[in-house]
Amino acid sequence: MDIEANLAAIRSRIDAACERAGRNPSEVTLMAVSKGQSASTVEGALAAGLTLFGENRVQEAKIKISQCSNRCRWQLIGHLQSNKCRDAVHFFEKIQSVDSLDLARELNKFADKSAKNLPILLEVNMAKEASKFGYDPELLLQELEDLNRLTKIEIMGLMTVAPWSPEPEKVRPIFRQMKELLDQCSAKLGAPLTELSMGMSGDFEVAIEEGATLVRIGTALFGARPLPPKN
Ligand SMILES: *Cc1c(COP(=O)(O)O)cnc(C)c1O
Repeated sequence: MDIEANLAAIRSRIDAACERAGRNPSEVTLMAVSKGQSASTVEGALAAGLTLFGENRVQEAKIKISQCSNRCRWQLIGHLQSNKCRDAVHFFEKIQSVDSLDLARELNKFADKSAKNLPILLEVNMAKEASKFGYDPELLLQELEDLNRLTKIEIMGLMTVAPWSPEPEKVRPIFRQMKELLDQCSAKLGAPLTELSMGMSGDFEVAIEEGATLVRIGTALFGARPLPPKN
């Protein structure tokens, strides 16, 4: 595994996708998805210039975070259970996987207790896959104002995991609908939501062409995961 070479290849693919879409590459943040990877692998990625890491599970992340440099920034991208909210608020700078009002309320409570504001993304199950977590887009629009009333969480934008397909072109409509939903949410709140977290190793270029501001890359960077998480 050569993180530096993989990173260079990913960056040039990001640049090319931005070029095709008439976007500036500085608009797209690269998150390294380190679930299933060791702390020393994370340190290698940090040395290669990556600073933002995504983890799926609070328990796994807690241990890893304690073993890694404090220059690493950590965000949660996996499903969160309400009994892990206290730790999640403590260990992550942002939660990308908020998918219900109850969960948002719980996070708001712990953010309040620790006297901080917690930036979040709302996860959307745009393709309505039974196997996936995330808000139904219609329900999200219904609950958006209630979510926005929670004073300690700050809604920055939306996140999705697109259906898996060997042909990324097939999921382009999902990414496009995400961008439309982001704009609808902004209109509803009367304030722009600016972040759109979408695109993984298999589909990040299409996601960027459709407006992603953050791509979450695991295997294209680190290779196959040595310890596949259960999630
Ligand atoms: C694992 C994971 C990723 C990264 O997937 P790769 O295909 O390895 O790039 C991105 N987002 C979420 C939510 C994930 O669980």
